Amino acid sequence: MRGKSTADCKQKAGVIAPVIDLKRCEGKADCLDVCPENVFEIRRIDEVDYLSLDLMHRLKLRVHGMKVAYTPNADACRSCGLCVTACPERAITLARTA
Ligand code: SF4
Repeated sequence: MRGKSTADCKQKAGVIAPVIDLKRCEGKADCLDVCPENVFEIRRIDEVDYLSLDLMHRLKLRVHGMKVAYTPNADACRSCGLCVTACPERAITLARTA
């Protein structure tokens, strides 16, 4: 079985980056597990992001421990798509950075 690899990736790092939909993310960390470039971290949602959500999604986040994914290492993304496929909440899309 193949391990994690970005050998098949077409893009150079820094062209594409993952975008997290915080209304969908439940901080399950599948993205963190599969990303070969260590783009993700799972942590408590920032206050400003929390306040940007409507009441229903704030309550949903409380149920899931206030944890979401962030992308502190987004510049390293090679656009392999593993995180998009792995996310059980379909919370990740890939977008051009510029
Ligand atoms: S597409 Fe997702 S899994 Fe692949 S390198 Fe970028 S952030 Fe990591």
